[in-house]
Amino acid sequence: MPWETVQRLVGEAARELRRGVSEEGTRGSHVVSLVNAILNEALAEEATDIHLEPMGSGLRIRIRIDGFLRERPLQFPQEVAPVIIARLKVMAGIDTAKRNRPQDGQIRYVHEGRSIDMRAAVLPVVDGERMVVRIMDAAERFLSCDELDLTPRNREIFERLIHRSTGLLLLCGPMNSGKTTTLYAALSALNEPDCHIMTLEDPVERRIAGISQFQVNPEAGLTFVAGLRAALRQDAQKILLGEIRDRETAEMAVRIALTGHALFSTLHTEDTVSAILRMIEMGVPPYLLAATLSGVIAQRLVRRVCVNCREEYAVTVGSREALALGELYHPGMMLVRGRGCDCCHGTGYRGRMAIHEILPISERIRTVILAADSKRALQKAAEEDGLETLWQDGASKVLAGETTLAEVGRALYG
Ligand SMILES: [Zn+2]
Repeated sequence: MPWETVQRLVGEAARELRRGVSEEGTRGSHVVSLVNAILNEALAEEATDIHLEPMGSGLRIRIRIDGFLRERPLQFPQEVAPVIIARLKVMAGIDTAKRNRPQDGQIRYVHEGRSIDMRAAVLPVVDGERMVVRIMDAAERFLSCDELDLTPRNREIFERLIHRSTGLLLLCGPMNSGKTTTLYAALSALNEPDCHIMTLEDPVERRIAGISQFQVNPEAGLTFVAGLRAALRQDAQKILLGEIRDRETAEMAVRIALTGHALFSTLHTEDTVSAILRMIEMGVPPYLLAATLSGVIAQRLVRRVCVNCREEYAVTVGSREALALGELYHPGMMLVRGRGCDCCHGTGYRGRMAIHEILPISERIRTVILAADSKRALQKAAEEDGLETLWQDGASKVLAGETTLAEVGRALYG
């Protein structure tokens, strides 16, 4: 078991501390090896976050994999916990003397010849200091449009929407639903010498060569609105606006989209139709929204069935899954699930993929927006346009053997 190396190093670090080799722990060679081993194991498991929490007499280590927090069973003697945190604080350039307030810093860690950016945040809690190390590399991996898991139909609509030279394209979904990854993939596809692209972000997560990226900083007066004005003076053709949070930003975004610019942004709504209603609720006049909105994309992340332990099984008539599939079900249907193995730590899943709902704004939907009509009217118009909902896209990926109904249900209905 890989984490056994970590457990062995914990023992060695404890012995070293008892011998009094290093009081601060930061000079102790075993502590250095131990912290590196923790980072290496988390990276090997493709974790996005490492949580280090003081727990009564020791330390608990949990790592986030594919969106789920998992504990790694380790025993820590009391004296080792603070030196691990202290070592990480040194690596992140955080003041080790201050232990009474939240602090954060950056770690650049070299793993197997690759430089990996991490962000460390430390918070004083009752039992000591709690730290979360976010592994930026894994959290914000660059994908191309080919890797977005779009069905051929959705891929075609997506390409059409992102290549439009004017209008507003909205991406919606909760936190950590992969919206930024999709937007960055779109920007990379549009990143050509004849196109000036600007992004307004809070914060700028990843650098893209050839694109002007502006860090929004509301405390310093650099708001999204100020950024939008600046982008216009910089002759930007396509603008990525990190997020629409208030009425002022929403209105300005729509007005800019009306004047010959393409604008991409995100909203925290559940589905495509709710995004339209949210814009109207925020105070955007329906006639402006109808005139500028080119499309809405909703998405979620679901876990993939582990390829190492996948197995087929028959879905029986009348089972919960058969009922959930409704018309998609037929007797004798086979689906796929993961049995659980060492590769996936017994979960049956490894890696994630996106499911989508893409609504291009047609004349029919424009008319409904203009009438500022109900959610039901919008849904009906979208249905008549042949909208494939998040559920339908998820179900098609279940039938293709890539994920499970349980996973799609969890992503959509919690
Ligand atoms: Zn497996």
